[in-house]
Amino acid sequence: MIVVASANGGVGIPQAMAILRAGGSALDAVEAAVRVVEDNPDDHTVGYGGYPNVLGEVELDASVMEGTTRRAGAVGALRGYRHPVSVARRVMEALPHVLVVGDGAARVAAEMGMVQEELLTEPARATWRAGLEGTLDPSAPIAEWLPRMGRLATDPEHVSGTVNVIAQDRDGHLAVAVSTSGAAWKFPGRLGDSPVIGAGNYADDRYGAAACTGWGELSIRAGTARQVVEGLRRGLAVEAACTAALQELAGLGDIRPADVLMHVVAVDRGGRHCAATTRRGWQYVHQTDAMDAPCTGSRLVVELTGSEPTEMDLAR
Ligand code: ASP
Repeated sequence: MIVVASANGGVGIPQAMAILRAGGSALDAVEAAVRVVEDNPDDHTVGYGGYPNVLGEVELDASVMEGTTRRAGAVGALRGYRHPVSVARRVMEALPHVLVVGDGAARVAAEMGMVQEELLTEPARATWRAGLEGTLDPSAPIAEWLPRMGRLATDPEHVSGTVNVIAQDRDGHLAVAVSTSGAAWKFPGRLGDSPVIGAGNYADDRYGAAACTGWGELSIRAGTARQVVEGLRRGLAVEAACTAALQELAGLGDIRPADVLMHVVAVDRGGRHCAATTRRGWQYVHQTDAMDAPCTGSRLVVELTGSEPTEMDLAR
C-alpha cells in the first residue's frame, strides 16, 4: 500500500494511510487526504483560502479517478464550497456525467448538504488586491485585460499549486484525486488541467496512475497524465514514463522548453513511484504501509531539450 502526493499533500497523508491500513479503498484514501488540504487556510492554491480569479472570486476545480473501472468525476469553477474533491466524487457516483461546472457543480454540493461559505480569506484577499494594484481594472473590456493577464497569471509567486494524491490499496487498486483553486488571478470560468481527465489526472489499474501540477494549459494540450500512464502501458519504468511525458511538452511549438513549468507524480501497478519536474527545487511526499511517517523527497528533474527522447534513451 502506498500514498504519493505533491508536497502540499503531506498534511493529508496520515489520514489516507490510516484508511488504507484499516482496509479502506484507494478512492476513500485520496479523497480524505485532499479534504485535509482543502481545509488548510494557509495553502493558497487549494480549497478554503485559495487565491481568487481576477475578480476576487475563489473558483475551485477538482477531479477523482479510480483505476479499477476508469470511472471519473470532476468539477470546475465551483464557488462557495470548500470540498470540490467530494463534489467530484459525487458527480462520478451519482450522475451519468464526468465533468460538471459552475452552478451545476454548486447544485451538487448543496444537495450533498455541504455548507456554503465565503472561501476568500483576508490574507488571500490582501495578496489579490496587492497583485492587481495599478495593473488591471476589472471593469475594463477584456481586450485591455489580456496583455496584462498573461503576466499576472504567470507570476511565479502565485501561479503554482494544486494538490495531487495517488493511493494504492491492499487489493492493488489505484485512485487519484486532484484539487486546486487554479491559476491565481485567472480569467473567470477558466478551467485548468485539474478537472480535465487525462490532463491533470489519470488512473488505470492495469498500468498505473499519474497526476500533474503546473501550467495547466500545457497539460491539457498534451494530455500529460494520460501520457505518463501510456508510457507505463508501453512498458517503460515509472521514471522513464514521467520523463517521456514531460519531454513531450517541449514539442509544443509556441512555448520555449525553458518556460514549461510542469510537475508529475506517478505510481505504477507494482507500487513503484516517481515524481518529476521541469524545474529544480520541487519536492513530493510518499508513504508506504511499511513506513511510520510520510517521507519528503526531491523530484527527478527533467531538462527539456526540445527533441523527443527515443525509447532507447528512456530505457537507460
Ligand atoms: N495546474 C493548475 C492549473 O492550471 C495550477 C497549478 O498546479 O499550479 O489550474
